[in-house]
Amino acid sequence: MFLPIVALLLAFLLGMALGSFINALVWRMYKGISLWGRSQCPSCEVQIRAKHLFPVISWIILEGKCNNCGNRINFQYPLVEFLGGVIVMFAFARHISFTGGHMDYAALIFEILFALTLLTLAVFDFRWKLLPIEFIAGATVFFGIWNVIATRSIFPLVLGIAFGALFLGLQVLLSRGKWMGAGDPWVGALLGAGLGWPNVSIGMYLTYVVGGFFVLVLLVLGLVRRKDRVPFAPLLAIGGISAMWFGDQIGLWFARALGWM
Ligand SMILES: [Zn+2]
Repeated sequence: MFLPIVALLLAFLLGMALGSFINALVWRMYKGISLWGRSQCPSCEVQIRAKHLFPVISWIILEGKCNNCGNRINFQYPLVEFLGGVIVMFAFARHISFTGGHMDYAALIFEILFALTLLTLAVFDFRWKLLPIEFIAGATVFFGIWNVIATRSIFPLVLGIAFGALFLGLQVLLSRGKWMGAGDPWVGALLGAGLGWPNVSIGMYLTYVVGGFFVLVLLVLGLVRRKDRVPFAPLLAIGGISAMWFGDQIGLWFARALGWM
């Protein structure tokens, strides 16, 4: 019992460190600066001390303020670090073998990378209502090639990418960009590359179920107005990650409910 807890705790710490990297990545992609070099405070641009770089804990110790200029540190930072921890811990919990059996490292790494890529896009869109298209295109190629090698079939992948891109692309066209930004179909293609057909359709379904619920809550609370454009990538990230982990079960459930099985 002791060893699994230690392993999952280490996975959580690793995930928090990766979440911290995502925070730096979105900021540097947005600003167009290099990934190398030490992190700075976005307000006063003073280099952040090494002892203040611990995920979540530093934010709590510093009471959410920069040690130098006292400006508030966006809540995004500890939240994304925490989510990174949860994602990596959950992926490990799914794959880890406590009996010394075979462990599918490739699937583990794929799941972590895919979920963290979607988290990156969610943060970027939520913060600036923009999407880094080159990053998405690169990720689509990366996960697409990985999936072709892993599954040794290309058809589900091509169909998945086409479905993801067209399903959202049509909505951009029909709404003339009012519901959905021009960057979102790219995220649809990425979901297709990561999930393949037919799982990508479950990802889209979950995006709309979860998204519809969230938007309704936000409308009721008065946090968004009906004309506001809600950033869609965070919803696609929730739908995509859920479909990756629970898509098979949900697909089976659907098939039974529809009487196909
Ligand atoms: Zn500062």
